[in-house]
Parts: sequence; structure tokens; C-alpha cells
Amino acid sequence: MDSEQLREYGHRMVDFIADYYKTIEDFPVLSQVQPGYLHKLLPDSAPDHPETLDQVLDDVRSKILPGVTHWQSPSFFAYYPSNSSVAGFLGEMLSAGLGIVGFSWVTSPAATELEMIVLDWLAKLLNLPKEFMSKENGGGVIQGSASEAVLVVLLAARDKALRSVGKNTLEKLVVYSSDQTHSALQKACQIAGIHPENCRMLETDASTNYALRPELFQEAVSRDLEAGLIPFFLCANVGTTSSTAVDPLAALGKIANSNEIWFHVDAAYAGSACICPEYRQYIDGVETADSFNMNAHKWFLTNFDCSLLWVKDQDSLTEALSTNPEFLKNKASQANLVVDYKDWQIPLGRRFRSLKLWMVLRLYGAETLKNYIRNHIKLAIVFEQLVSQHPNFEIVTPRIFSLVCFRIVPANNDEKKCNNQNRKLLEAVNSSGKLFISHTALSGKIVLRCAIGAPLTEEKHVKEAWKVIKDEASFLLHK
Ligand code: PLP
Repeated sequence: MDSEQLREYGHRMVDFIADYYKTIEDFPVLSQVQPGYLHKLLPDSAPDHPETLDQVLDDVRSKILPGVTHWQSPSFFAYYPSNSSVAGFLGEMLSAGLGIVGFSWVTSPAATELEMIVLDWLAKLLNLPKEFMSKENGGGVIQGSASEAVLVVLLAARDKALRSVGKNTLEKLVVYSSDQTHSALQKACQIAGIHPENCRMLETDASTNYALRPELFQEAVSRDLEAGLIPFFLCANVGTTSSTAVDPLAALGKIANSNEIWFHVDAAYAGSACICPEYRQYIDGVETADSFNMNAHKWFLTNFDCSLLWVKDQDSLTEALSTNPEFLKNKASQANLVVDYKDWQIPLGRRFRSLKLWMVLRLYGAETLKNYIRNHIKLAIVFEQLVSQHPNFEIVTPRIFSLVCFRIVPANNDEKKCNNQNRKLLEAVNSSGKLFISHTALSGKIVLRCAIGAPLTEEKHVKEAWKVIKDEASFLLHK
């Protein structure tokens, strides 16, 4: 790294990015390019000789940006937003600048210790039980994604179960969740070798706003025990991907605990809201959980990737994931004096991701972060009211956080036609380039999702988004 070149190019890159944010509203939110567009624009092989930064930035402007969907646009309302912020960006920059690979404590003690400290800070903000803190046998770790988080705890739970019931019982292990659980769990089961027929995705419906009913869970566990199977893992949700459904943690946890089932809570999106005292109720019952996950990169102003996982029993994780090759041996690890995060995750190498979370917490402070969440929820209420006042639209499930699930109402109870209309509306709205929303299906209904949570979104963007949706719908319905 040539420090003078870094200084010059770094300043120019920061200027480039700052200008991007200044003009972000000029781009179509959803990229409008066709598949394969970039192959037509870039050469077939890498250059033999150096090119200039100007040449590269020109290509970013003319060739890359048209193929970017602008997740940081204030009119991005699709999926769940992925936050970036000045603090998060600076933390990323510092992490890239230091360029460490902190797999063991010794490879950069500050990386391990800062991660433990900031996860303890956040555990306190969420009022998680003390067993999740690093001073106990628990602790937090930063994973790349909620998918990795659920995979590592599933592996920990699987190995714990196999240690207790015998190694050759893998095909008897059973996993439970609601049918609203993110497909990340299914992927984790595939990787962990759980028999596909032993993944119980228990049915939910509108009567519980798509939350898992504890009695269904209890019945399934009892049936499986009678059949000689081994229930071992439950994944509950606080804020499902489709509609922010919240499973009743306390009741589910009671059943899980009394059957020695590992209880994981996926609060990837909604966990952030639970730092506000008025939303903390949604994780009541987390004391019964073995592991808890939230994505700071979704709604906590921390640039992707930063998925926070807490466990009560770190030994279960390390027993499933640790290795100890000669080439990594060192005094601190051998003496068992330190945490080596390589044993809490799938890869060996890991970035210094805690820096960005630390910078977010320090440069903004907890009160600002709480108000940031509250503001998005207020904006979601504005959108919800606009939708519910319109005769051609309905709210499909009650809004809890900052996601509004809505659709064009069916005329003459014709659900099929209604689904087609909603699909057409989605297509029309997104191809306008003015905003980006996504969809899901609930009880066979195609539902449109407006997820408010991009850092730059203000009330005017929400109102403009509604105007585009309403005008496109009116055009569609009167065609
Ligand atoms: N769980 C929930 C509730 C989610 O909403 C998502 C993604 O939106 C995931 C898990 C998967 O997230 P990741 O991309 O971090 O694996």
C-alpha cells in the first residue's frame, strides 16, 4: 500500500461516493438493464498494463451504475432495506485500511476483544438475559448473514443432540419452525444433513397474523416423540420476512426447554426495533432461547455485512466448529485464555467488522438510534393510513414495525384476477424507476410490501411512492 497514492485516490473515491449520494435520486431505483448487459460493455480479458483511476471511474459511471439497484435510495422500499451510514462507512474504511484477518485472538487481539465488547453493549441495549453476555458462558459473534447464524447454531444443536443420543441417529433429528420462516433455515438443514422429511414447517394463517401457534408446535413434538424421532431444534421469528409476524417466544420457549430442543430466535430485521423500550415486548420470552440473531446491516445504520448472533452456551458452538491445526497453535489459545472466533463460524478468515458497529454506536449513540427506528415506524404509519383510506386498496396484515403489507382489493371476490392485478401493479411501479417495492404471498394472496427503513427516506418520499402506486393502479383498473 503506497500511502501517498492512498491519500490521493482515497480522497477522490470519497468525493466520488459523496457525489453519488448527492445525486442518488436521479437514478432509477431498480436497475433497468437486461441480463448480460455488462458482457457487451467490458473487454473479454483483464488489462495487461495499469489503467488510470479516471478511466475506471468513468466506467463506473457509464457501465456499472446503470446496473446498480440503488439500495440506499430514499425510494427503496423492497425486501428489507440494508442500511449504510457515514459511521458504518468509516468503520468499513478503517477495517479495509487495517487489512487484518482476525481469526484467532492472537492475529489481532483488538478485533476479538472489540467484537466481544460491542456485542455485550448491544445485548445490554436489547436487554438480553445476562447468559448471552461474554462474562457468562455465552457471548456474541458477528456473522456475515442471518443464514450463517442459523446454520452455525443448527450445527451446534445437531452435534449436541448427537452427543447425547448417539452419532448414528442423524436421520431421526427433527427441526421445527413456522411456514413463514426464512428459507435460510431450509438451506441450513440441507447443509447440516437433516432429513428433508424431518423439517416441520408448521402451518400459519391470518388468524394469528402468521405467527406460529404453540399448540401446533407441542402437537408436532408429541407426534414425533411417539414415532421415535428426536426433536432438537426450533427456529422462531420476531419479524418474518413476508409480513413481520412475531412468534410468541415465551410459550414456544417453554415447550422447547422442557423437551431439550435448541431454541433459536431469528429477529434479523425487527431485532433493531427492540432497543426501543416500547418495542422490547416483542422479544419477551427471549430468556428461554439458546440463541438470538439480528442483522445490524438491515436497520441499524451499519453497512452490510454485520449479522449479530448471541448464544448462551459458547461451548456448544465451539464443540461443533473448532479445529486446532499445528499451524494455528499459539500460547493464548493453547492456554484457553481467549476467544478464537474462527471456532464460532464457518470460514477461518474474518474481517474486523466490529469497528463499523462500534463507530455506529459511538458516533450516533443509543438515543439517536432509537429515534431513527421510531421515525421509520412513523413513516410506515403515514403510508399505512394513505393505503387504508383508498377504496381500491387494503392492508393485508396489521403493521407492527415499518413494513406495510397491502394490495389492490379483489373485485367480486375474484382472487385470481386480483393476484394478476397486483403482479401487474408491482411490475408497473418498479419499471417506472421512481421507487422499488417487492412482494410476497400470504394464504395464496399476492401481497405488495412497502418496507420503510432506508436512511435517507423522508415523508415526502413515502407520499411520492404512494402517489405512483395509486396512479399506476388507477390506470390498470380503468384500462
Ligand atoms: N431471516 C429474516 C427474518 C430475514 O428477513 C432475512 C432476510 O431478509 C434472513 C433471515 C436472511 O438474511 P441474510 O441475508 O442475512 O442471510
